[in-house]
Amino acid sequence: NEAEFHCDGCGIILQTKNPSQLGYVPVQALEKRDEIYCRRCYRIRHYNEIAPINQDPSVYLQKLDEIANTRSLVVQVVDLFDFSGSWISGIHRHIGKNPLLLLANKIDLFPRSTKWGRLKEWLRKYANELGVKPVDIILCSANKGVHIDTAIAAIEKYREGRDVYIVGTTNAGKSTLINRILKEVAGLDAIITTSPYPGTTLDAIRIPLDDGKAIIDTPGIVRKDRLSEWVCPTDLHVIMPKNTLNPRIYQLKEKQTLFFGGLARMDYLTGGRQSFVCYVSNHLYVHRTKVDSADEFLAKHHGKMLSPPKDPAQLPPWKKHRIALSGKEKQDVVISGLGWIACGKEKGLLDVWAPEGIQVVTRPSII
Ligand code: GDP
Repeated sequence: NEAEFHCDGCGIILQTKNPSQLGYVPVQALEKRDEIYCRRCYRIRHYNEIAPINQDPSVYLQKLDEIANTRSLVVQVVDLFDFSGSWISGIHRHIGKNPLLLLANKIDLFPRSTKWGRLKEWLRKYANELGVKPVDIILCSANKGVHIDTAIAAIEKYREGRDVYIVGTTNAGKSTLINRILKEVAGLDAIITTSPYPGTTLDAIRIPLDDGKAIIDTPGIVRKDRLSEWVCPTDLHVIMPKNTLNPRIYQLKEKQTLFFGGLARMDYLTGGRQSFVCYVSNHLYVHRTKVDSADEFLAKHHGKMLSPPKDPAQLPPWKKHRIALSGKEKQDVVISGLGWIACGKEKGLLDVWAPEGIQVVTRPSII
């Protein structure tokens, strides 16, 4: 009965009937190997190729609800590069009374001068505002292996002999983190499929622990309000940073515009001369021009000099977000999946343009 077989990469139930459906594996592959991967995972592992998936986020959320009926530790992985975009809204309602440990991943992208204590406090405050009181917050980097020992120790401390559920949105680095933990704990090499493309882990995977309990890797929740979910794989390589961000500082006068490739634009309308620090992938082209000629400039260069996207028609048309800087505290303007612009303490008025449906928000400055 093939329904008993799960893919070793993503956990989905394997099937041999329909190649266009998820979990497909050729019969021969099912018979031969000790480790079995569905075709999708096989392709990711061997060819770095990905078949896009389209799944209903509400199905994932229902799966999360099952956690409320367990006694467990919930480990929520968030992506520091896209904190609000990688947050699972209403997480506390899904997990019941279980404690939550927050693992804030991808610290390797933050400049060395970052004040880590302050960052942690920032996260705590933010989590509290969203209704969550984490038992602890660990800053780590899954793929660079930073503070993984601290994360493991915290998991061991707070699970108190219970199961551990790992939750997060797609692309937060959940699979990388679990692989890293397994490697440190048991010396195992990568067994869960990771990739830079959103939505790699499809069904819950149970990883047994010595005491009869388990680490349960839940499917990543897809959030469509992030640019990282919309661009094609080639463009994703450009916008998703792999190394420490080099902050790019622009002294702007009123009526100046910054283009972020051809994915977003910020018009600085009023507020006098002030500096804006862009935290975006080092490979993303940022272009400064005048507000008055910005439309014309975009029309001429979109998809060419102003890229990614290579093909602007693949993305929704831009929507304008009017933002008033309060003048009370330093604020970041976040364009989900693309990065953020750290603004000064002065008052100011901005128009930020991004494809419709992409989250554009302000927050107290993170760095
Ligand atoms: P999942 O969807 O949450 O399971 O995420 P993955 O583990 O597949 O990781 C998504 C992407 O984030 C991959 O391209 C990883 O290489 C990358 N990634 C994971 N951890 C880190 C990290 O600590 N730092 C950086 N810069 N990238 C990471």
